[in-house]
Order: sequence, then C-alpha cells, then structure tokens
Amino acid sequence: MRTALAPLLAAIRPLAEEPVRLMEVCGGQTHAILHYGLDTLLPAPLELLHGPGCPVCVTPASYLDHAIAIARHSETVLCTFGDLLRVPSGASGDLYAAKAAGADVRIVLSPLHALDVAKENPARQVVLLAIGFETTAPANALAIHLAKERRLSNFSALVSHFLVPPILRHICAEPAETPDGFLAAGHVCAVTGAKDYAALAAELHTPIAITGFAPEEILYGILRVLQLRSAGQNEMANAYAAVVRPEGNPAAKDMIRRIFEPADREWRGLGLIPDSGLTLRPAYAEWDAAHRFPMPSLPAVERPATPEAGCPAAEVLLGRLSPPDCPHFGTTCSPDAPRGAPMVSPEGACAAFFLNRRDS
Ligand code: SF4
Repeated sequence: MRTALAPLLAAIRPLAEEPVRLMEVCGGQTHAILHYGLDTLLPAPLELLHGPGCPVCVTPASYLDHAIAIARHSETVLCTFGDLLRVPSGASGDLYAAKAAGADVRIVLSPLHALDVAKENPARQVVLLAIGFETTAPANALAIHLAKERRLSNFSALVSHFLVPPILRHICAEPAETPDGFLAAGHVCAVTGAKDYAALAAELHTPIAITGFAPEEILYGILRVLQLRSAGQNEMANAYAAVVRPEGNPAAKDMIRRIFEPADREWRGLGLIPDSGLTLRPAYAEWDAAHRFPMPSLPAVERPATPEAGCPAAEVLLGRLSPPDCPHFGTTCSPDAPRGAPMVSPEGACAAFFLNRRDS
C-alpha cells in the first residue's frame, strides 16, 4: 500500500462505522478505484457507487445511428475519439462495422486534428463527433469557433454534450436513491469552478467533495465528504484545490458560452433530461452536422424500460446495479463482445470491473 494511504484510511474508518453510500461521477475515478482496489481497503459499511460519469456510456444510441448514417455518405469523413467506435447504436451496428464496410471513419486525438483533416480534404465533408461533459466542451467549442473564423465550409460537428449538475439533480430526485455524498470530478470542476458545486450541495441536501484521480486524492475526497456528512453540513469541499479554482477556467467557460447554449439532452437509457446538455447556438448552425445531415427518421427517445439487448446499463449508470451483479457480466458481455456501452469504453464501470477481474 502507498504510505500516504494509511493515515487517510485511518481517518476514514471512524466516519464510516455505519452504512454510507458515496457516488463518484467520473469514469476516470471509477477506473482508479478499481485499478488500485481502493474499495477493498475501505471499511465495509462504506459503499462506493459508480455514477454516470463515462461520456461514451451516456451518449444515446440514436446519436450513434445518426453518426453512422453520416459516415455512410460517400463524401464524408467522420472524425471521432476511438472509444466511440464499438459502442452499439440503436439500429445501425457500430462505427467500427461502418468503417469495415467502407465508411471513412478516422480516429483523432483532438478536435483540432479534425480541423486539419478538413483543411487537407477540401472536397470532402468532415464531421467531428463532439461528445462529453464540461471537460471536453471547451476544445470542441474552440474547433467550431476556428472553423467559423477560418471559413471552413466543409467542417461541422455532431454535438451531444452533457452537463454534470442536471444528472446529479436527476439522481437525487428519488430520495431513497440519493447517495449520502458525491465525489465530483476534478477535471470537470477545473473548467466550471468550485463555486457552482457549493450551491449544488445545498440544493441537493448532500455533501460534495471535488476530488482528483490519484489513489490518495480519491481517499482524501472520501474523507472530506464523510467529514461534511458527519458534521451535518450539506456543503462543498474542494479536495482538489491545487487544480480547481473557485471560479474555474474563465477562458474555457467563455469559449463554451460563445459557441454552446443549454439544451434538453437525451442520456443513453435514461431518457430526456431537461437542460442537461449543450447544443450549438443559432449563430453556429452552419457548422452543425445535425442541420447539414438531417436524420428525420431517428428512433424515438430511449426509455429506461427498453434496455438494449437485455443490457441493464441504465441501472449501472445510476449506481443501482454493481456490474458484477449483471447476469451478462463476464459471460455474454465482455470488452471483446460488449452488450452495452459501459463495457466498451475504458471509462465504463463494467469495463473497469472486468479489466480488474474482481467479483465485487
Ligand atoms: S455487464 Fe454488459 S450487459 Fe451488463 S450492464 Fe454492463 S454492459 Fe450491460
């Protein structure tokens, strides 16, 4: 065990002598917890729930249907991050299969790379799959801003951005399911700032600790949220203050505000959640792939009652089902043959459990 962990565990123990449920909302933290076995070091009454913090996992199947339909246009080049390739769509297979069938689907390492592809291929329409939480929104916004500034008429973005606070409200809408505290993702808060989460903790009547990603940072976040809980304080603790400032990153926030506006957003398996995402402002409609390549026959909004291929991913995303308790886990569902998005993405909770090969 890392020496820094022992004193943190000793401080946590007396604060978790009775059942307590904490939820992290970040796929990176989920993987760190499983990779380092932090959950096995914590006292048994403390249960860690793995929330909807994996961007690929919450991207709706209908979005993938739309992306695949765009990829099948002979004049398009679709640019995406690699972990979207094998995520099942609603009715069209996955991007990997579309690529195997001849679609020009390219993995990019940044949204700006997609701009380069557009510049190098003036006769093709280049479409960037712009997904993720507040963390990736600034870079996607910058790419769209530069496309407009450079008058790149062959570039557009298919946007499906999500916001963290609305999904926390959604989770807390059912008091019986409300965790006793949240660990908020440090990289999201580095953009948005800590201040917003202070108001959110009060609104949700639940303590929140902004938390980093190293094992000792995660344990420190757990300690801080337990300390708040034990003091009866539904407040925010910034346990990642070296990175997260109260006001966040003003330049990144300004870039998001200039390009995007809040919008209702469909979450995979969870349905439509009001004002839970970002969409392009009307001034950027020309760079909106949803306008350039309309898809009027998209499937209706997904409902939690109709999980894909028997995959109870919605229950996993809400922290109500631990991946090893899914009947398909490790038998008919694995990273090589995934039934649902949480087994595909490196940030998915099911993949985290599978890759670390533990049963609980
Ligand atoms: S183990 Fe597979 S089938 Fe079960 S919830 Fe996870 S992704 Fe879905």
